[in-house]
Amino acid sequence: MQSEFRNEPFTDFNKAENAELMRAALEKVKGQLGRDYPLVIGGERIMTGRTLESFNPANKTEVVGRFQKATEELARHAVENAGETFLTWRNTPAHQRADLLFRTATLMRQRKHEMSAWMVYEVGKTWAEADGDTAEAIDFCEFYAREMLRYAEGQPLVKIEGEDNHLEYIPLGVGVVIPPWNFPLAIMAGMTVASVVTGNTVVLKPSSDAPTIAYKFFELLEEAGLPPGVVNFMTGSGAEVGDVVVDHPQTRYIAFTGSKEVGLRINERAAKVQKGQIWIKRVVAEMGGKDAIIVDADTDLDEAATGVVQSAFGFQGQKCSACSRAIIHADVYEPMLEKIVERTEKIKVGDPTDPTSNMSAVINQKAFRTINDYIEKGKAQGGRVLAGGGADGEKGYFIEPTVIADVIPGSTIEQEEIFGPVLAVIRATDFNDALRIANDTEYGLTGAVYTNDEEKLERARREFHVGNLYLNRKCTGALVGVHPFGGFNMSGTDSKAGGRDYLGLFMQAKVSSTKINAAKDTKAEKRAAI
Ligand code: NAD
Repeated sequence: MQSEFRNEPFTDFNKAENAELMRAALEKVKGQLGRDYPLVIGGERIMTGRTLESFNPANKTEVVGRFQKATEELARHAVENAGETFLTWRNTPAHQRADLLFRTATLMRQRKHEMSAWMVYEVGKTWAEADGDTAEAIDFCEFYAREMLRYAEGQPLVKIEGEDNHLEYIPLGVGVVIPPWNFPLAIMAGMTVASVVTGNTVVLKPSSDAPTIAYKFFELLEEAGLPPGVVNFMTGSGAEVGDVVVDHPQTRYIAFTGSKEVGLRINERAAKVQKGQIWIKRVVAEMGGKDAIIVDADTDLDEAATGVVQSAFGFQGQKCSACSRAIIHADVYEPMLEKIVERTEKIKVGDPTDPTSNMSAVINQKAFRTINDYIEKGKAQGGRVLAGGGADGEKGYFIEPTVIADVIPGSTIEQEEIFGPVLAVIRATDFNDALRIANDTEYGLTGAVYTNDEEKLERARREFHVGNLYLNRKCTGALVGVHPFGGFNMSGTDSKAGGRDYLGLFMQAKVSSTKINAAKDTKAEKRAAI
């Protein structure tokens, strides 16, 4: 009997012994930077000779890992190999698949700081952000393993006379798993282990900005006993090999998390039936956000300001759940601005290996450019920059946490996902106006409301159209099992990762109905009569 699921606790780095362990892990990982990694298809390690490099965003010439670019042929081979492995893996009993996840979680717990240290170097996470990412990955393994055991139990059906009926959940087939770089361990691991534990086989194509942490996780899976070919590790440009694996007729489903543009492209391509394809591909696509926090006049402004600033600038604002719009009641607009600016100015931007840094570099050159462009657009459209606005791309891609006030509803930075440390502050005439502005977006991922008014909280529950609504707290930091996560509208298919519905997306239900043989019964009765 498994113990009840509990979230992995976050590490308190104020304790000297924990800080020491993290420092040692960073040191160890530093000694391993710049290595070469293969593709792994059917357990075979393959070097293609065409490589892509993953860089440290805070020290942009430092190579974290060098990876192989898969060719189109190898991408097809990966899907076909996964197809062959599926024929055996699908028959592995559910408890054995769950055990694989429990063992993976145990190994990850043992190497927690090392996994976090890779993310510090590879994507510029601060210690606390990296630790949260690792904890979430452990949670996904523990949670989905238990969920699989639950799904594998006999499912309740209405009983009728003369028939014995069963419903069981069976896997779908080959899944293509395409994660983003921003939760490069948690989201990548979550979609992968959900696939594996339900009996599917996987082609895992990590983000080119974060392949090393994905490889480290893949190694853990292997160490935990993952049979060859159940997960195939395939790096390469999303644009080059992404279409090949999405289009392949043997691909049964795609589990994607990333931008709206790529998600919609995948959804469209997956809808086209290819020659030899005998199913409708399923697409689980979790995409972007333009998340808002509403601050009402009747609320604790200090708490609200802290919630806004934490949600806006944690991991440099590069979270799908990040608060990119603070919508503030006109009566408290100026004092709230002051409080937001005061807190923002205290944020220390620096190297993520330094435990005193609260923020670090954004992911890459392209992001650095687009985020700075958005700041310029914000100014050009009448925004007032009250904090930040500066950037330093010399050593790494550093952008100051930036607060732009007086942003007009409907303007570019109020509508488009920036995915960087830029907060647009908008004045609302009253609570109605605030709700209207908050909902006036194509996205619908997270949102928050700060108010002491019970009726307004109730209205927000009914009318604020987001998949994850937070009341009187920040809008980031969803916990597995506690806050199943996924958004509405262009934020995606609302898969609710980390919730009870999630594994159902990776399976199909098969019903078998057995007639209780009347003839046999009669024979038995006759025998009994003799
Ligand atoms: P992205 O869309 O650029 O890339 C995501 C993945 O898609 C990467 O692995 C990339 O290599 C791959 N890819 C790119 N082109 C492809 C193609 N043509 N075919 C197949 N795959 C392709 O997103 P990103 O920059 O990695 O991540 C940031 C985005 O992810 C933001 O929009 C953010 O809001 C979103 N996100 C959403 C959630 C959520 O749960 N809703 C969580 C995290 C991130």
